[in-house]
Amino acid sequence: QSKNLGRNRWVFYSPEMSEQLVRRREMERALGQAVVRDELRLFYQPRYSLHSGIMDGAEALLRWQPSPPALVMPDSFIPLAEETGLIIQISDWVLQRACRDALNWPKPFYVSVNISPVEFCRDDLAERVATVLRVTGLPAERLELEITENVTLEKPDKVLRIMQRLKALGVRLTVDDFGSGYASLGYLKTFPFDGLKMDRSYMRDFPHSQQAHSIVNGIIGLGKAFSLVITAEGIENAEQFAELQAIACDEGQGYYLGRPMPAADFIHMLETVGQKQISETGQPG
Ligand code: C2E
Ligand code: MG
Ligand code: MG
Ligand code: MG
Repeated sequence: QSKNLGRNRWVFYSPEMSEQLVRRREMERALGQAVVRDELRLFYQPRYSLHSGIMDGAEALLRWQPSPPALVMPDSFIPLAEETGLIIQISDWVLQRACRDALNWPKPFYVSVNISPVEFCRDDLAERVATVLRVTGLPAERLELEITENVTLEKPDKVLRIMQRLKALGVRLTVDDFGSGYASLGYLKTFPFDGLKMDRSYMRDFPHSQQAHSIVNGIIGLGKAFSLVITAEGIENAEQFAELQAIACDEGQGYYLGRPMPAADFIHMLETVGQKQISETGQPG
């Protein structure tokens, strides 16, 4: 199908294309209402110290529940939220919810929140975080912000300034999905990160492939050289867990150790199991 828009100007479109546009508009409208309609949920995935085998924190992972039982995963709506600017409103909700939830936990674990690169395009990120800390009363040292490595590439001076302000508040900064993008080693030196999370893809052939093993070992060494706390994400089995402990990776996260779960389930687990520790047999106990 095509439409004549005047002399020699033809716009071609297919019914699928317009359908896609309509669906996008509809989703954008619905997402814009998600906060006021109270449709956002935070799931928590535990993180363990690999040195002690004890849980010491959790990552907040966002879900959208426009109507039960539908649960929309972040990869299907965060990009739209970023393109439309809705991410700021959503992220304010996430930060506030995560800080309040963490105050309800029976242990003073830290809570880790993912920050979108778009939030670094504005000047007010540190002020927004400071406000949330003040309003909720969560001690700054219990909040960690995860930032994907690509964020640092575009406007390094501006990003550095914002990161320094965040550091001054006392929050921890961690590079997320390290090794999945284009950042060079230099930026680990340039930016004031406290931690590094290895991209999940490095776990795929680990520990069996010699090459995967060397690369993971290399990233851990690199992180240590920059005095960063190294976390492996995507740990799915006992062999990976044991080998990461053997090569002195600091922290671990993954389905083997615990899946992301609703906030209430996370508290329930903490209350019933107490301080979860990985037993000698390697099973989360
Ligand atoms: P991420 O920050 O790298 O989070 C880790 C993702 O890996 C999560 O997916 C988690 O459920 C999944 N995962 C954890 N352990 C395993 C494992 O052992 N195996 C496998 N295959 N996957 C594992 P999820 O929850 O779908 O989140 C996807 C991404 O969405 C996150 O990646 C993060 O970049 C983004 N995201 C999530 N919540 C937020 C948020 O509140 N704000 C922003 N800006 N982004 C968020
Ligand atoms: Mg993350
Ligand atoms: Mg990650
Ligand atoms: Mg990611």
